[in-house]
Amino acid sequence: MLTYFIADLHLTQKRSDITECFLSFIEEQAPIADRLYILGDFFEYWIGDDDDNPYVLNIAAKLKQLSEKGTEIFFIVGNRDFLIGERFAANCGMTLLPDSKVIDLYGQRALIMHGDTLCTNDIEYQKFRKKSRSWWWQFIIKSLPLKTRRKMAQNYRQKADSGEKMQAKEIMDVSQSEVEAQMREHDIDLLIHGHTHRPNVHRFELDGKPATRIVLGDWYEQGAWLKYSEQGFELLNKPL
Ligand code: MN
Repeated sequence: MLTYFIADLHLTQKRSDITECFLSFIEEQAPIADRLYILGDFFEYWIGDDDDNPYVLNIAAKLKQLSEKGTEIFFIVGNRDFLIGERFAANCGMTLLPDSKVIDLYGQRALIMHGDTLCTNDIEYQKFRKKSRSWWWQFIIKSLPLKTRRKMAQNYRQKADSGEKMQAKEIMDVSQSEVEAQMREHDIDLLIHGHTHRPNVHRFELDGKPATRIVLGDWYEQGAWLKYSEQGFELLNKPL
């Protein structure tokens, strides 16, 4: 029995190296896993489940094939692709999970999430998050014609490329007190998340008991995933 976790691939047509690496991960590594959890920022941006871009449709088809071969796929949205909904999930043959979820890993309970809610020191982002997760904001965005949303994404990318203010502002790390608060709330000693692009295994004490926080790596410079089995866990990589 084997479970894989990935996050922060930031898939985009512009990065064919990352895309190829992911497609080979789907072909070569993922089929031996019983379960694959995708913990957000799978795509660099998401304009809506009605996007008919062949790039997106191909990724969906590859995930669907994997699920049909017997790997169960679960998905938690990130701060880039939070507009992903049930329609796209169905196209991929995967199950959409809420923002945070307690799962069973071979007898070990674990809390899984994207990780952005742990960065409470980033006040500006938390404000945007609150707004962008509201029904009215999503209603307005989703009501815009596909063409307009595509244009918005394009503008965003151009700004990012030209090094303007959108330039990947360094993501703040998690707040340890928020980590502990969320782990306490779920009565859990294992937390798995992505988002910060700081892959690591943190061991600490929570209310006198050992606790572990596993941070998944991003895919900007290599493919990265967490392998979890009854025998233990390991953060793994493959070159782009
Ligand atoms: Mn993120």
